[in-house]
Amino acid sequence: MSRDGRLAGLSTLVTGGGSGLGRAIVNRFVAEGATVTVLERSADKIAGLVGEHGDRVRGVQGDVTSARDNAEAVSTAVAAFGGLDTFVGNAGLWDFGRELLAMSPPELERGFDELFGVNVKGYLLGARAAADAVVDRRGSMIFTLSNASLYPRGGGVLYTASKRAGAGLVSQLAYELAPHVRVNGVAPGGMATDLRGPRSMALGDTAIADVLGGGESLSRYSALDFAPSAEDYVDSYVLLAARGESRTVTGAVFDISSVGTPRRPDL
Ligand code: NAD
Repeated sequence: MSRDGRLAGLSTLVTGGGSGLGRAIVNRFVAEGATVTVLERSADKIAGLVGEHGDRVRGVQGDVTSARDNAEAVSTAVAAFGGLDTFVGNAGLWDFGRELLAMSPPELERGFDELFGVNVKGYLLGARAAADAVVDRRGSMIFTLSNASLYPRGGGVLYTASKRAGAGLVSQLAYELAPHVRVNGVAPGGMATDLRGPRSMALGDTAIADVLGGGESLSRYSALDFAPSAEDYVDSYVLLAARGESRTVTGAVFDISSVGTPRRPDL
């Protein structure tokens, strides 16, 4: 654990930091010298985080769709670590590629509310709760987007629409919070994680790792011909959170998915 890394002295807040990409961000941020507060709905995952990182991490059990839980996470970060430099909106749900015509209208209604509640409302409520503290520190906000923010086939219509909404949120918040706060998005591609779907679509008990299978199925989407892990995606978050490393960057979406370039047919 380094206290003089690229994020030394920064207080950060990560939603959905209990597993997958969020957990990889927490681990790396702590290794780079940051303190991290995590808003996460799973008590078990929070216990694992605090067990590993001790007093460098605070866990708040709650739901990103609740304004009160977001506010509690921010006040926990401020009380424990003296302020908040970086807000990372990351908790999300996937729709397992469910196509429009495969959903009944009632399922579409319920699925929309639940998935957009986490992927879009959750990001907005997090930004709203964190804004004053992050403005005070002249800090930054980073939102986890997806290859689905840019291309079709990264999910079904609900997920793709929600992640494109995330890109819109980045663009508009970069404008609204300028010049005090930089706001950016990071768009990773597929990874085998615990990512779940809406319970209202009976997709709450399956993880994306269960359906993606091993590396082979993931690497076939990437021009770089490998199956990334969550850890492979975290460098952009460090770059965007670090003081002085990306001073001109706001309103950007870093496409780190490697799926936008077609795969060579001979691979
Ligand atoms: P994950 O399920 O491992 O991590 C998400 C975490 O968020 C979990 O710990 C979960 O408990 C938590 N969470 C879910 N809903 C919550 C809520 N309402 N309130 C609080 N916590 C909640 O999945 P992941 O793959 O690491 O996903 C992280 C982000 O990465 C998501 O925004 C996802 O859309 C994005 N993403 C994932 C992939 C992929 O293939 N896995 C690809 C591109 C983008």
